[in-house]
Amino acid sequence: MAQEVHFARQLVQSATDIAVVTHIRPDGDAIGSLLGLGLALAASGKSVQMISGDGVPSTFRFLAGSDRIRTHLEELSGSLDLIVVVDASELSRTGTVLDGYPSPHINIDHHPTNTNFAGINLVEVSAVACAEMIALLLPELGLQIDKPVAEALLAGMLTDTIGFRTNNMTTRALNVATSLMEKGANLSEIYQKVLLQRSFQAMRFWGSGLSNLQRDGRIVWTALTMEDRKNAGYPGRDDADLINILSSISDTDISLIFVEQPDGNVKVSWRAVDNIDVSGVAQWFGGGGHRAAAGATMPGPLAEAQKSVLEVTRKLTFSSK
Ligand code: AMP
Ligand code: MN
Ligand code: MN
Repeated sequence: MAQEVHFARQLVQSATDIAVVTHIRPDGDAIGSLLGLGLALAASGKSVQMISGDGVPSTFRFLAGSDRIRTHLEELSGSLDLIVVVDASELSRTGTVLDGYPSPHINIDHHPTNTNFAGINLVEVSAVACAEMIALLLPELGLQIDKPVAEALLAGMLTDTIGFRTNNMTTRALNVATSLMEKGANLSEIYQKVLLQRSFQAMRFWGSGLSNLQRDGRIVWTALTMEDRKNAGYPGRDDADLINILSSISDTDISLIFVEQPDGNVKVSWRAVDNIDVSGVAQWFGGGGHRAAAGATMPGPLAEAQKSVLEVTRKLTFSSK
């Protein structure tokens, strides 16, 4: 990867008008990576547009600079000379914001399902978060890590590892986190804000999901309908991180959540224990992700999506045993 980093550095140094773009339905790593790289570039004097097609979830709006994130590129972006995509394994994960623009110059990502869609693909599957990669890359790109950058990157690392407890954790990741704390990021404050605090509405939404919890052998799942969302008053289209709670149920190999979307599609999330790989099942349904955490969006209706996903999940993950 050394050669690619060298090329990336040259591109970054010579660019003046830069767009950094993250994936749709952004999680903490998407926003943390976007801000970490975007703010570092801006601090070095570049003109930077930070783009998240689906905006910034309220949980991450406390991060300095998050108010500078936009949902669209500016009209006059004809002068753009560098497009960087972060935390996205495929170009389609950026939504429609890059439609009509040249293909991205640089992709920084940590998903094993990455399709190498950019000119330079910095893909490091052993990184626990894209934010970890960016923390390591910034000095190599000739950029500084100041306090807001460190806070954003630590938020990204914390969310993708659910507080440094996923089974892909490494000593390197902890060392990077230490260095971000040394740059001024407050671990306990960021941990509180990105992983523990929940809105009243989110808790009520969880309640619906938890009361409909199902189990078949070592698979557990639940669904969140548009009706549940309305009753709870929960904004947004996500599962309010309920999947992370499901994945803590004992004597379970795989947990799934089915989230009905306003357009009738169904967002599916898989979580698996150590020796099971769910990324292939997610890919089967047009999605992707990691061995232990994967996702896909598929057509509804909910009941049918649920039936076929459960069937294929059983087949692809247990049949060979
Ligand atoms: P989620 O279940 O949405 O939390 O996603 C778990 C992991 O799978 C994350 O690393 C996502 O980046 C990835 N992922 C989720 N949805 C998709 C998708 N439609 N295509 C590719 N990767 C996805
Ligand atoms: Mn992400
Ligand atoms: Mn990530």
